[in-house]
Amino acid sequence: MNNNDLIQQETFAKIGYGLYVATVNDGVKNGGCILNTFMQVANNPNQVIVSVSKQNYTCEVIEKTKAFNINCLTEKTPFAVFKNFGFQSGRTVNKFNGVDFFTSKNALPVLKQYVNGFFSLSVEQSIDLGSHIAFMCTVTEAKVLSNELSITYDYYHNNVKPKAEPKQKHGFICKICGYIYEGEELPPDFICPLCKHGIADFEKL
Ligand code: FE
Repeated sequence: MNNNDLIQQETFAKIGYGLYVATVNDGVKNGGCILNTFMQVANNPNQVIVSVSKQNYTCEVIEKTKAFNINCLTEKTPFAVFKNFGFQSGRTVNKFNGVDFFTSKNALPVLKQYVNGFFSLSVEQSIDLGSHIAFMCTVTEAKVLSNELSITYDYYHNNVKPKAEPKQKHGFICKICGYIYEGEELPPDFICPLCKHGIADFEKL
């Protein structure tokens, strides 16, 4: 899976990440998506960067509304939450069906469960990165909701994600969500229909 001799793809898995739900409202309904690309990048004033896949409807809504919340997920978060917010599209489903939330000062939803803190963000700059848009934001509200530990990407992979079924299938499995592509060759532009990751995150069964 190497792009060339100098870039070992697996190196990217050595980057430490958290996992978050970005929540939005498109004017009609609440929505959101799972992302790992959120970090504070300056403290005077407080500024953060959030990178969102253009495949996500949430990205489109953030571009339009310039406002969203980041919900910090805890280690207690069940796989169902990742499935609900990460493996389907707000274009076709209401992800807030049956989800408990309250509303922050910016009138956007904050999840009540499995979240230990939230940030309300206002977009100052958008940077088009190709697959993603990076939103440089100022923080308009930030609150701690519990002292549960924040979940990391490693913790998710080791403890939350269902283990791959041992039954023999021919094809490629998405290391992020477990989706199986059946076939001899993975098309180079293939994108996981569930979690929207590319072929770099697939491995041969
Ligand atoms: Fe996937």
